[in-house]
Amino acid sequence: MSHIFPDTPKPLIPVSGTPILEHIINECAKFGLTEILLVLHFGEEKIREYFGNGEKFGVEITYYTEKVPLGTGGALLSVKGLMAPQFLVLYADVYCDVNLSKFMDFHNQSDGSVSILVHPNSHPYDSDLVVLDTNNRVIEISAHPHRDPQSMSNLVNAAMYVFERDVLINVDIKQSKFDIAQHLFPELIEVGAHIVGYQTVEYIKDMGTPDRLLSVESDIENQVCSARSDNVERKAVFLDRDGTINKTSGYISSPDDLELLDDAATAVGLLNKSPYLAVCITNQPVISRGECSFDGMRKIHSKLDFLLGKGGAYLDKLYFCPHHPDSGYKREIEHLKVVCDCRKPNSGLFQLAEKKFNISLTDSWIIGDRTADIASAENFGGFSALVLSGDAGQDYKYQSRPNLVALNIYAAVDFILNYSDRFKEFITNLTSQVGSKKYIFIGGCARSGKSTLASLLKSMLAQQSRVAHIVELDQFLLEDREEDIRFLERYDMTKIKSVLRDFDISSVKTYCDFGFDHVANKTINYGESTVSQGDIVIVEGTIALQLIDLVDAPSTSIFVDADKEGRHKRFLQKYQMRDMAVSEVNQLWCIREKNEDSVLQEFVEGVDFVFNNKEN
Ligand SMILES: [Zn+2]
Repeated sequence: MSHIFPDTPKPLIPVSGTPILEHIINECAKFGLTEILLVLHFGEEKIREYFGNGEKFGVEITYYTEKVPLGTGGALLSVKGLMAPQFLVLYADVYCDVNLSKFMDFHNQSDGSVSILVHPNSHPYDSDLVVLDTNNRVIEISAHPHRDPQSMSNLVNAAMYVFERDVLINVDIKQSKFDIAQHLFPELIEVGAHIVGYQTVEYIKDMGTPDRLLSVESDIENQVCSARSDNVERKAVFLDRDGTINKTSGYISSPDDLELLDDAATAVGLLNKSPYLAVCITNQPVISRGECSFDGMRKIHSKLDFLLGKGGAYLDKLYFCPHHPDSGYKREIEHLKVVCDCRKPNSGLFQLAEKKFNISLTDSWIIGDRTADIASAENFGGFSALVLSGDAGQDYKYQSRPNLVALNIYAAVDFILNYSDRFKEFITNLTSQVGSKKYIFIGGCARSGKSTLASLLKSMLAQQSRVAHIVELDQFLLEDREEDIRFLERYDMTKIKSVLRDFDISSVKTYCDFGFDHVANKTINYGESTVSQGDIVIVEGTIALQLIDLVDAPSTSIFVDADKEGRHKRFLQKYQMRDMAVSEVNQLWCIREKNEDSVLQEFVEGVDFVFNNKEN
């Protein structure tokens, strides 16, 4: 840091324009912590000059200057006589947005002599890891390098503490220079002091190197800090585990079986640098079957933490359901063989996360490879992305249409972070304008984002307590169609007309939603729903805009405009899933392009809305 800020003492180094220490003092003042002691050494004059007696900042500052720096622990012992019976320790190179009152409340309720703020971070391998028991008591602090890193959960000492002054009375450390985390805490644990860990998802990060300073500043700019703050409703991307984050063949019952899918750590890392929390929710019936113990599961999840940590990523929280409703297994654990509300697609664990982290479920997503994941989104009221890794939705256990189908977790996260807002903004604007229109026709080229738009529209209407039915035109594609005919003739028009007529004369009472599974290349049943007066019918497909004249009721039309580059990328992904060679896919793409592009562009003119889904 001294190369970049040669004459600035560290506490005065600006983070997004404000000296880090000023930010920390402002945070303290915000929570009524107004008596502050600054323990200084290097640059102390400049710091005194800047902060004075603290009046300008609404606090009272006193100073203690170390003649010889004694490390964080030595400094703490030097000033213990100046401290109140209970006090907070903050470091002047740690940026934080933490509800300090809540932290102090936790401490007071815990009966601990010291509370340590702990959280997962993106580099557990070179951080001090804290081991807690089930009552949040600290049983070990492991300084890096860790003796068995794969067996340690990603729970890091975030360098913020509440101390009872009395715990320092009998501290007997021989050396004069020592560190709080590395020397004082082990000593306190040794003599049986009650130290507790306070877990939070709030933002707290050391900015003590140029890289970390840049990363903190970019987190502030990208609203990563404010989105994690205690005074806002947070949002989350819930992640399924097996088949989504890690490879799976059957069930994982030992840490040795656990291997990450390609790009999973990168994807989770992107979430960590976004306004979304990354929360894993997984069904683990192996426990109820007696094939893996709770301790065994903890080891598996420590390995998961380790592998993600190696890739610079972490989960803010992991919840698992150990239950299973069916009995009949040899070693099964009877009391876990129950119908529960935490097994996906039930929403018990999502609601637990909602409560713990103040999550807005209607702004949250789940990414998963099984139909239970997709169905859970309907139950918790958020959005879903089906990934084509793992089971790729081919278990067909639950009938629920995903909002997005993505190649893998990385593609799903990319969509959520970089594209979903534009869909939501468009839909919010659209739904405020559709009024009593019965039909919404969504047309556009292949792979432009029509089905995602249709599905998100349906979900967002449901959030407004409005019912919509999707008529996915791909289900009417003729089996023996040729690729190079004009594309209207590729569909069973008789069937399409009959479905639309039934809706139009309101003769349809129940509607069975069929979609098209592009991976299995077959029609898929998304289940039956009741049709009532006032419901909206979304007609979606490349030929949708040519069908408007088939209905009499008022309609709205949308053309989804995507650039060739993006569509080609998604086209390739789709067909590669079916193990087609790239050359073959590209041949197909050329034929489609010729047919579709020219005809579709004609329809842009007369539509009510154009949804711009271009890459840039
Ligand atoms: Zn359960």
